[in-house]
Amino acid sequence: MPAFSLEPSQTARCAELRALAEERLRPLAEKGEPGRVNRPLVAELGRLGLLERLFTSGALDLCLMRESLAQACTEAETALALQGLGAHPVHAHGTPAQRERWLPAVSEGSAVAAFALSEPGAGSDAAALGLRAEGEPVGRGAAEGSGAARWERGRADSEAPGARAETQRSGSESAAPGSQAGRESVWQGAEGAEGAQAGWESVRRGAAGPSAGREPGSAAGAPARPVAVPDGASRWRLTGEKCWISNAPEADFYTVFARTTPGAGARGVTAFLVPADRPGLTGTALDMLSPHPIGALAFDAVPVSADDVLGEVDRGFRVAMGTLNLFRPSVGAFAVGMAQAALEATLAHTARRDAFGGKLRDLQSVAHTVAEMALRTDAARLMVYAAATAYDEGAPDVPKRAAMAKLLATETAQYVVDTAVQLHGARALQRGHLLEHLYREVRAPRIYEGASEVQRGIIAKELYADVELS
Ligand SMILES: Cc1cc2nc3c(=O)[nH]c(=O)nc-3n(C[C@H](O)[C@H](O)[C@H](O)COP(=O)(O)OP(=O)(O)OC[C@H]3O[C@@H](n4cnc5c(N)ncnc54)[C@H](O)[C@@H]3O)c2cc1C
Repeated sequence: MPAFSLEPSQTARCAELRALAEERLRPLAEKGEPGRVNRPLVAELGRLGLLERLFTSGALDLCLMRESLAQACTEAETALALQGLGAHPVHAHGTPAQRERWLPAVSEGSAVAAFALSEPGAGSDAAALGLRAEGEPVGRGAAEGSGAARWERGRADSEAPGARAETQRSGSESAAPGSQAGRESVWQGAEGAEGAQAGWESVRRGAAGPSAGREPGSAAGAPARPVAVPDGASRWRLTGEKCWISNAPEADFYTVFARTTPGAGARGVTAFLVPADRPGLTGTALDMLSPHPIGALAFDAVPVSADDVLGEVDRGFRVAMGTLNLFRPSVGAFAVGMAQAALEATLAHTARRDAFGGKLRDLQSVAHTVAEMALRTDAARLMVYAAATAYDEGAPDVPKRAAMAKLLATETAQYVVDTAVQLHGARALQRGHLLEHLYREVRAPRIYEGASEVQRGIIAKELYADVELS
């Protein structure tokens, strides 16, 4: 890995993006309804060509975009990131028909995407997910290896002793037998969960770089061979719940992770592309501390077929992990952007605010605190850039670097924003103040896409893996 510094062209592009965000995105964000998808904002991101870059940029470029947008307009940053999270599985694993139907609309901002993994009973322990994909009979193609034949296999599974009870449970209970290894390693990339392992391993081997991601089927965890032939022959019904899904219930389509093989942990999950207008799919908005659009989804026997599968049947965790591997450092970039905005506000405020016959900045404790905020923000930024660069280069230590970057950046941003509030005093807590906004925004990234404790688990696991190898 080279010593890190941005090229002048990259620095210039970041400045340009911040200016665009101030001028064209912030006014639209201010007109939006907190907690709801802001379609004019998404469309403007499309018009500016930023959404298309989600599919053509490397991880570092993605981080620079997210950091720059976050500094000027967190709502725009989040709208961009959520389009990427929801649509990346289609980009990397979709069939030509799925890609053609959805990716141009995502890029122009006319279709809103969402990534539906979490459930009430399966958050950090995502391999415990219980949304059931139950095979149903089809009227054609019963030949060996056809969709109907595969449905027969699925039916046999669900009728195996104990399987019915298994599929009728929900949430974390549903993955109990045989899934422990998968559950422990979903976020950690450890042994035992084939899906998670494949996700991490593909990064280690350098197959998950965005250059790979640009080509369908060549990105992280991309299918080596399609199992569900996209001829519509295999059919399932999705039944269960998803919770804390960004952009739900207003998204136009969802990448949904569902259990096709009961009791198989991470190995028995399939990713489906589910258009929002499928019968049986309903949702409700959730009101969060931040203005983040988010909701819960209810699936009441929602029909899906082989045409809707993303990647391979029972290998959906590769899809999820490949997506999260790419996005994890960029959550850190979002955090760095917020920290930078808080730092700049604090510099401006403490330089002007009269106190004790001088300015606040003349108090040594204030000046040293501001220095500490800047120090930590820069350290986090460098770690984010390094993790993203490692991803782009296909370095072997991406899981550790990505986890370190996300952990350091999100925890740092929390410290910096909180300290900025302190140094601003009461005005920072007034509704509508930048810091009041950032204070609400900064909290969630320490929880989503792997909570801080989960990142520590990943880092420790990777460190000990190296010890065992030497
Ligand atoms: C704003 C926001 C947006 C979100 N968007 C999406 C989305 O678009 N799609 C989606 O699928 N999900 C989304 N989520 C859900 C998110 O991924 C989960 O909240 C996250 O995985 C944690 O799950 P949980 O909330 O159920 O917490 P739990 O898994 O119950 O964990 C609670 C706490 O337990 C501790 N903990 C958990 N596991 C460990 C461990 N292994 N070691 C040590 N401590 C641990 C941590 O402190 C953790 O915060 C979003 C969440 C938020 C807040």
